[in-house]
Parts: sequence; C-alpha cells; structure tokens
Amino acid sequence: MAGVTLENIWKVYDNGYEAVKNFNLDIINGEFLVLVGPSGCGKSTTLRMVAGLENNSKGKIIIDGKVVNDTAPKDRDIAMVFQNYALYPHMSVYKNMAFGLKLRKFPKEEIDRRVENASKILGLDELLARKPSQLSGGQRQRVAMGRAIVREPKVFLFDEPLSNLDAKMRVEMRKEILMLHERIDTTMIYVTHDQVEAMTLGDRICVMNVGVIEQVGEPRIIFDYPATLFVAKFIGTPPMNLFEGVLVKSGGVYSFAGGDFEVKLPDHMQELLKDKENGMDVVFGVRPRAFTLKEAVEGDVDTSVVITGKPGISEMLGEEILLHASCAGHDFIASVEPKYEYVLKQDFVEFVINMELAHIFDKKTSRNITIPHQVATDTTLWSKRIAERSERRRKNFKKEKV
Ligand code: ADP
Repeated sequence: MAGVTLENIWKVYDNGYEAVKNFNLDIINGEFLVLVGPSGCGKSTTLRMVAGLENNSKGKIIIDGKVVNDTAPKDRDIAMVFQNYALYPHMSVYKNMAFGLKLRKFPKEEIDRRVENASKILGLDELLARKPSQLSGGQRQRVAMGRAIVREPKVFLFDEPLSNLDAKMRVEMRKEILMLHERIDTTMIYVTHDQVEAMTLGDRICVMNVGVIEQVGEPRIIFDYPATLFVAKFIGTPPMNLFEGVLVKSGGVYSFAGGDFEVKLPDHMQELLKDKENGMDVVFGVRPRAFTLKEAVEGDVDTSVVITGKPGISEMLGEEILLHASCAGHDFIASVEPKYEYVLKQDFVEFVINMELAHIFDKKTSRNITIPHQVATDTTLWSKRIAERSERRRKNFKKEKV
C-alpha cells in the first residue's frame, strides 16, 4: 500500500493538445480515489501517466515517496484493470490469474498461494477450472481483478472497469469492488464518467473538466457544496437547478433576484457575501429536494423564500415525483412526495425553498461563493477520516484471517 502524489502534472500530446493541465493531487495510503468527469476530460490520460503507459510532459509522479517519472510501468508496483479485460480464452480461470506471475518466474508454491488468496477474496473458488467462455460478464470481470490482485501491488488502477456490463451487473460489481477495497485495503485510483459510481465508491472524488481539476472532496461534500457550476451540473441526478440573476443588497441584507423571482438569502450567506457588490451577476443554485410544497409545511412559512411555479411535465419515480415547473421564465425541477400528486393538476404550485441547501455562484468565475469557511478549509479532517477508515479495514481483515 502506498500514497500517490501528482505534482504540477501536464500532458501535452504530440499534436500539441493539452489533455491534462497543472494537475495537483495527493492520494493518501489506502484511499479509494475516483477520477470522474465527462468523456475526453483527461481522466484516462491521468491514470495512464500514473501507470507509466504515457509519459507526463511536466511535473512529478511520486509513488510511495519515490519519483517514478523514469521508472518503467512494470517496476512501478501497480496493477491496472481495464474496461476491455481480454482474458486468454484457451486458459482456465486459474491459469489466467497465474499467467503473469509465471512469466515473472515466481515459484509454483508462491503462485498457488497468491491465486488461492485472490480466488478466496473474489469468491472464484468454484470457477477455477472453467474457461472464460463459461463465465458471465461479471465473473469475467472478477477474474480480471484477480489477475491484478495476485500481483499484490501497492496501488490498483481501474480504467472504467464496469462500462461493458449491463446496469444490474454494474450495481453488483460496484458492491464487489467496495468489498475488495475493504478486504485488501490498498490505494485505488478509479476512473469513471458515471457520477453514481463515483459517489458510491470513492473515499474522495476528483471531478475533472477539460484537463483540469474542478473539485476534490468526499462525496457528501462534493454533493452538498459543489465548488463550481460545472460540479453542480455534473454531480446529482437530476442536476442542481440553476437560476441566473443578480445579488440585491438592500438595508445591508442580500437577496437573489432573477426577474420576478426573488428570494432572501439566509444568515450564513450574508456574512460570506458581505463585500459583494449590489447588482453582481450571479447564479442561484438549489437541488430539487430543497423544495417543499407550501401546503406540506406545518406552522409559519417564511414568505421571503416562497416561489410560485407553473407545473409542466412530471416524472413519477415511486418514492418521489420530479415536477418540472417554471417561475418567471426560469425552468426548474422540484421533488414532490407522491401523496401530493394532485398538485400536478393545479395551475400554480407554491414551494418553500430550504435556503440552507442553496448556493450562490459568481457568474464570471463560475465559483461557488457561499461555501462555509469550515468546509472550504477541511483538509486535515478528511485525511483523518480516510486514515481511520483504512485502519478499521485493516483490523477487520486481520480478524477475518485469524
Ligand atoms: P477521458 O478518459 O476523460 O475520456 P482521455 O484522457 O482519454 O479522456 O483524453 C483526453 C483528451 O486527450 C481527449 O480530448 C482526447 O481526444 C485527447 N487524446 C487522447 N489521446 C491522444 C493522443 N494520443 N493524441 C492526441 N490527443 C489525445
């Protein structure tokens, strides 16, 4: 197990294209770090640079305290699992897993020990004699992971390993990868374009866009406090509602106004916005779940955070209804409890917005300017949390071995 540091990393391809720009990230021992972003944002390039399959044009890649820029892939003590895992069709599951070790001339007993161990971790014991054609897609993917596990690497790299599987199998394999991390507690770097995979797997998520990092943080933080408009749109289904408008400062109190849509901003934002100009161009962001039907609120309602929407189409998802509505020319989606289905037929619906869950983004820089100070500076806390999780995993695994 080893930490991985990427320091001022750039990748400029031969045709001059800058695929990764000034990438800086410390991945700590035992961490599960997910690189996520739309296709073409530079995730695979970054991963391949860690593996040594691509050279970095600038910067340092450090694995376990050693700069590996000039170290050959095979000497980096990493193992990579790809989307196209290409098992050898004529070899059994056992032989597929043992092959790499045999090539490296490992003694037979050591190969047996490692394959047995990997097979136990992945639940492949019953399948060792089968050929790949006799396996399901998920089982084949497990064998591919087995091939990586037997290497006993310091770092695992995964490049979209689940994208060839159907939706049900992906959920299944997600669980298995989490269990794998629980059991072997090795640093893992995982590339995906799927934000659900990122949210469910990562100790931390690194959101990338056109070669740069938009935000790094624990899933909950990324979801609750997106640092940029890009992250707000990319993470969360449906995405955050975004309303363009201006900050209005009146009597020392800030509101957001987007035409006829006006809401008073909550106390925690007033302090954070105190130097901002009246009339500044901003984007107001709020997730669908932050809307509550006014008639569902018990007690007094703060009318300064009520908006009136005209219902459009709706999507019944069983546990909630996603109501597409509009207010003063702004389209938005609100989550409505199914028992209030009758509101969909009304001409207008009033919502109370939970302003504790709202955000203000600077339209010019796209940055969230209302992230609480303690969240923005929470660097020591996350590393402590991840180290604690890692410690717990190690203890559990020891217990299991006894
Ligand atoms: P992702 O994994 O996020 O989908 P990649 O890292 O594969 O993205 O690619 C990032 C960008 O670099 C893309 O725009 C891609 O077209 C470009 N790219 C990848 N490989 C090369 C190459 N060999 N030469 C030039 N451009 C490349």
